Amino acid sequence: MQNASFIRKMFEEGAKLKLLHGADKVCDFSIGNPDMVPPEEFQKVLMEEAARNEPRIHGYMPNAGYPFVRKSVADFASVEQGVELKADHVLMTCGAGGALNVVLRAIVNPGDEVLASAPCFVEYGFYCQNFGASLKLVPSTPDFDLDPEGFAAAITDKTAAVIVNSPHNPTGRIYPAETLARLAKILDEASARTGRRIYLISDEPYRKIAYDGIQVPPVMAAYPHTLVATSYSKDLSLPGERIGWLSVNPGAEDAEQLIGALTLCNRILGYVNAPGLMQRVIARLQGVSVDVTLYQAKRDALRKILDDAGFEYATPEGTFYFWVKSPVEDEVQVVDALKKELILTVPGRGFAGPGWFRISYCVDDAVIARSAEGFKTVGKLFG
Ligand code: PLP
Repeated sequence: MQNASFIRKMFEEGAKLKLLHGADKVCDFSIGNPDMVPPEEFQKVLMEEAARNEPRIHGYMPNAGYPFVRKSVADFASVEQGVELKADHVLMTCGAGGALNVVLRAIVNPGDEVLASAPCFVEYGFYCQNFGASLKLVPSTPDFDLDPEGFAAAITDKTAAVIVNSPHNPTGRIYPAETLARLAKILDEASARTGRRIYLISDEPYRKIAYDGIQVPPVMAAYPHTLVATSYSKDLSLPGERIGWLSVNPGAEDAEQLIGALTLCNRILGYVNAPGLMQRVIARLQGVSVDVTLYQAKRDALRKILDDAGFEYATPEGTFYFWVKSPVEDEVQVVDALKKELILTVPGRGFAGPGWFRISYCVDDAVIARSAEGFKTVGKLFG
């Protein structure tokens, strides 16, 4: 709880501030909980699926999910990943978080290490700890790309996997194909050296939220021993419905055995499969997403506000997060000053990225507009 406290703390303080000043006065940029409604197609398909009343329509299903749902996901993901996936290579999961836990349960032993690039999504460390493994962080490059050589230096014979996340929370960075190719080469060489296949886990719930026409390079095409974990939490605005999937590259070492282990873990970890109704709904919504140009417009509006206030930042290429440089070493001072202006952000140390802070802009346009004065005041304070 101590370690998880930053995002939680901002969330709780936000609730207090809203009670004190009124929700319409507070600019809550703390968590990545999209306020955009799901696309219209979702509502239509949901109503149709909910109206079905057939024997076992709400019954148990195979542990990996309904075969027709997995086929629908596999067909779409094959195009995204540049690898031919069949229904058997896909498992429906309780979001990307559920998928990551299933993978780790299947591939790590107690004492193993899992690597990720810092800064990163804070929960990876907790997920690793669930299974007696530990998360080892490798600093990103100064422009927040992956540092393949840094990974090479950090790999030991305890390394079970590397987690990558692109588009990236919290920096908004999309990893170029060239970087992924370099990482793949390093993982191949290191696996040969340690005598143990190092898996690549690609956590990609933001894949569809990419701006300026940037294509998010496929991770499976870069490295055969890749597992993709993702969800519809962000691109369909469905985080509460807990629906996502996990996929294994058919070219992965031990792919068949791996799928068997993942299928068992999907059942025994306690979530007991992904929700059936949502499986049926998303099977009919492959390729559909919220209007990403709206997020791009929010990014651009916030960029102008940050420019006017004199902040430096990493321009997001995707996601809905701004990663902003703190004008002083201790970013908590800036986050606290913003809080006095009723603006809630999260200190970078909550993502293993001290000296920076994160703004989550999956909020109403009015919230972004209202924050301009507060950012300007704090910019001047530290300018
Ligand atoms: N991975 C990243 C990088 C995230 O930002 C999140 C949620 O914010 C998740 C995974 C988990 O998402 P979910 O379990 O809702 O799919």
